[in-house]
Amino acid sequence: MLQNLCYTITFGVDELSGTVLTETEDVLKTKFHLKMEYGGDFKPPLMGKRDNQLLADGMLFHLSRVKPANAIAGLGITPFDIYSDGLNFVFGIASPVVRCAIVSYHRLASYNRELFISRVRKEITHEMGHVFGLKHCTYPGCVMNFSNSLYEVDLKSEDFCPNCRKKLEKALKELGVLE
Ligand SMILES: [Zn+2]
Ligand SMILES: [Zn+2]
Repeated sequence: MLQNLCYTITFGVDELSGTVLTETEDVLKTKFHLKMEYGGDFKPPLMGKRDNQLLADGMLFHLSRVKPANAIAGLGITPFDIYSDGLNFVFGIASPVVRCAIVSYHRLASYNRELFISRVRKEITHEMGHVFGLKHCTYPGCVMNFSNSLYEVDLKSEDFCPNCRKKLEKALKELGVLE
């Protein structure tokens, strides 16, 4: 039986991992009604390694394989820069099919701790939105706005627009996360 768990792993840890995991736990709880279950630190899959970047798709595949059957979703977090097929870099990727996402905070770094935290929260929320079937949204400020640069990440808010929120609630209800 599915439980309200998001199986969360790291692909590498650094001095920011503790902060990122604390924020992740809070985002999963407050926005998705999920409990973070930390599954430990995994060695990033070596396949697809390119100029110190890791292939996000390989990590997503790995996560989908280790995610316990009772966890409703999986999330992998990494300090490494990641890319995906055809893209120079990505902040994250997600698959609603296996309900897993990968988020890199490599490019979210800032000397301003509050700014870093807000970027991390936005990107986790965004990718987890995709996990539950949300698409990109053009509503001003919606966290599901597509962002291809830090500038665009900083422009959007941490929250879903009313339409995306409704869709998310519907998906969470269908999965039994929400009553
Ligand atoms: Zn997206
Ligand atoms: Zn929206």
